[in-house]
Amino acid sequence: MRPDTVEDYLKAIYELQEKYGRAKTSALSVRLGVTPGSVTDMLKRLAGQTPRLVRYQPHQGVTLTDRGNRRALAVIRRHRLLETFLHDVLGFSWDEVHAEAEKLEHCLSERLTEALANYLNHPACDPHGDPIPSGEGEIQMPAGCPLSELPAGQPLLITRVRLQDREALQYLARNRIRIGAVVTIVEKSPLDGQISLTIRRGRKQHAFSIGAAVAADIEARPS
Ligand SMILES: [Zn+2]
Repeated sequence: MRPDTVEDYLKAIYELQEKYGRAKTSALSVRLGVTPGSVTDMLKRLAGQTPRLVRYQPHQGVTLTDRGNRRALAVIRRHRLLETFLHDVLGFSWDEVHAEAEKLEHCLSERLTEALANYLNHPACDPHGDPIPSGEGEIQMPAGCPLSELPAGQPLLITRVRLQDREALQYLARNRIRIGAVVTIVEKSPLDGQISLTIRRGRKQHAFSIGAAVAADIEARPS
């Protein structure tokens, strides 16, 4: 097994586990862009490794062991520090950084990772509001809950955007959505969960709307 592939799996399992409690084969296959059959093969091989990184039960999905969790957090730390560096220092947009960080995250030594963290002054979050684990593997979840669960009519501070899809991120950026932006929900459609929002643009309020799936991946808290 190539170390890069193992790291990609551990990271994807971590992110799905964070959201759903476990990672299912089908979700991993979508996320990693490989067939469900090869995901199953890989999970069996990973589960058979010593020391064990994952627990795998056919048809149930997979979860990380403590050791797997630590390995996943180390890759996530590199990934999110790289995204922050690319965005804050090199001026990449928030829809570009993920793909670049995907490639670079496997080649950073521990020394370079820590130098990068120092240079960036130990940021708590990356440009999407995703928390950056510490070098000791601690991770502090930002306060916030999905827009789809928040009430209309009050100012909400955007804390995290869990989307990786470039088009969705570009759409949000065109509408001035970023971490720290303040929006107000005007209306939630009871039919399909579509949400209409306003955001301040200078002295004007700019209105736009997002679908239910996107709203579930944007987190905010009352500002
Ligand atoms: Zn990110």
